[in-house]
Amino acid sequence: MKNEAEETTNAYGLSHISFFLFRISRYALDILFPPLCAYCEAYLNDETAPLCNMCLATIVKQTALICPICNARMADNKNICTHGKSKRDQYPYLLGAATHYADPIIRACIHQCKYEKVHSLAPVFATLLVEYINALDPKPRLLSASPIVVPIPLHMHKERNRGFNQSALIARSFARTIQLPYDELLIKLIDNDPQAQTKKRIARLARMHGAFAVPRLAAVRNKTIILIDDVSTSGATLSEAARTLKQAGAKKIFALVVAKA
Ligand SMILES: [Zn+2]
Ligand SMILES: [Zn+2]
Repeated sequence: MKNEAEETTNAYGLSHISFFLFRISRYALDILFPPLCAYCEAYLNDETAPLCNMCLATIVKQTALICPICNARMADNKNICTHGKSKRDQYPYLLGAATHYADPIIRACIHQCKYEKVHSLAPVFATLLVEYINALDPKPRLLSASPIVVPIPLHMHKERNRGFNQSALIARSFARTIQLPYDELLIKLIDNDPQAQTKKRIARLARMHGAFAVPRLAAVRNKTIILIDDVSTSGATLSEAARTLKQAGAKKIFALVVAKA
C-alpha cells in the first residue's frame, strides 16, 4: 500500500501536484486579487466593466455644450458665451464635455487610463461621450454633416514610451459605438505637454503653436470633424488642433472631451 509521501515522489504524483498547485494558485489569485472597481475597489460582478454600477451612476453627467473660457452651459452652435469677437477667433470649435474634471471618480479613472494603462476604461469614457451627445437638446447642427472622429494625437516619442494614445482609444471606441468614421488626421510635431508646464493660457498657446500638422489635406478639406481628447484644461491643445484643422480646410469642428477642468 502506497503512502502519501511515495505518491508525491512519483512522476504522476508530481504532475497531479503541479496541476493541483496551479488550480490552488488560480483560486488564491482570485481570492487575493478579485476584480475590483477601478475607483471604489468594490468587488465587481461583471468583470468586463472596470467600474461598479454605483460609481458609474455617481458620476455627474453634463447635458449642454460648454463655454471653453468660463465653463458656462451654452446654447446650441455657439463657440463661447459673452466674451467678445476677438476671443471667438481663439476658440474655433464648439466644445462638448461629458463630465467635469473636478469629479473625483472621473479624475481617478482618467489617471488610471493614462498612467496605469487601464485600457478597459476607454469604452467607459466612450459610452459617457455617446450618452452626452444623446442628452444634448437641441443637437449641434454639425452632427448631421457626417462628421469624422479624430483623436488629439500624442507625439510619436511619447506614444512609443507610453505604448498607446488614450485619446485614440477613446475616440476609436466612441466612433465604433456611434457608427461614425474614425481617422487619425492630425499628427503631433512637437513633444510638449502644456498642462504640466505653465498655468497661463497665453503661455500654453505659445508653447502649442505649430504643434500639430495635417499630413493628408484632401481628407480634411470641407469636412466636419469631431475632435476627441480625454481632458481639456485651458483649451490650448484643442485651440491649436482646431486651428490647424481649419487651416487645412476643415469646415466645422466639434471638440468633445470626457472632462473639462
Ligand atoms: Zn465603484
Ligand atoms: Zn464664457
